Amino acid sequence: MLTFLIIGAHPDDADLIAGGLAMRVKEKGHRAVFLSMTSGNAGHMSMDRDALRLRRLREMENAGRVFGVRYDTLDIDDGYLTADIPTREKLMRYIRTLRPDVIITHRSCDYHPDHRACGQLVCDCSYLVGVPLFCPDVPAMRKAPVILYGEDPFTVPAPFRADVAAACDGCVERKIEGVLQHESQYYEWLAYDGQWTDVLESGTREEAKALLQKRLRGEFSGPVERFKDRFPAGTRYGEVFQIDEYGGPMTEEVRRAMEG
Ligand SMILES: [Zn+2]
Repeated sequence: MLTFLIIGAHPDDADLIAGGLAMRVKEKGHRAVFLSMTSGNAGHMSMDRDALRLRRLREMENAGRVFGVRYDTLDIDDGYLTADIPTREKLMRYIRTLRPDVIITHRSCDYHPDHRACGQLVCDCSYLVGVPLFCPDVPAMRKAPVILYGEDPFTVPAPFRADVAAACDGCVERKIEGVLQHESQYYEWLAYDGQWTDVLESGTREEAKALLQKRLRGEFSGPVERFKDRFPAGTRYGEVFQIDEYGGPMTEEVRRAMEG
């Protein structure tokens, strides 16, 4: 059994990056765990931080239930994540306690400073995870986890490269259901921030949900449109991942669990 740890900066990032993959590998008997570095307590236009934090923790729990994964958080303030030494230690303790075989996260080139810091923090742990005198209170790992990045559209210093692909046709509707558990985001903040006027002006909750489902179906078909040759013919929905060269070497076992 392999353990896949998906680390996002905010609650909903892990779901988006690898929610489909998590369900697929679980079906094969592997374990998947989601971790949000922050509590997401900045993502709203009218709620205060404390109330939003509590709401987002509940949403994470609901999403975890839909995906069938444990959803953890380091509960750092949203917008304040930095790749500093105390946070590196915190993340290192978490990683060494869980002892994942695979870690999936953001690349460190990204529009959001928390995403950049998150990618950097995972990268900063990639070698040190095996160094016993860093965080000596938690035993070092003898085998470095494979590290992968979820897809992003950014091109500097280099565009995203799809090294591994997971088809998600069989679980796309459940992925959408899981993502939409983050209600404060999809029905409220992201709709407001992104000026999704159709969602904002929809008359009922059901109407808004149908519009969001359609939007997410479009989003989740993107990887197959952009990297068609990486997927089996006829695939409609999927997720793609880039291998990080600082992580442990990619193995056939991991690739089979993800693509097979
Ligand atoms: Zn995010």
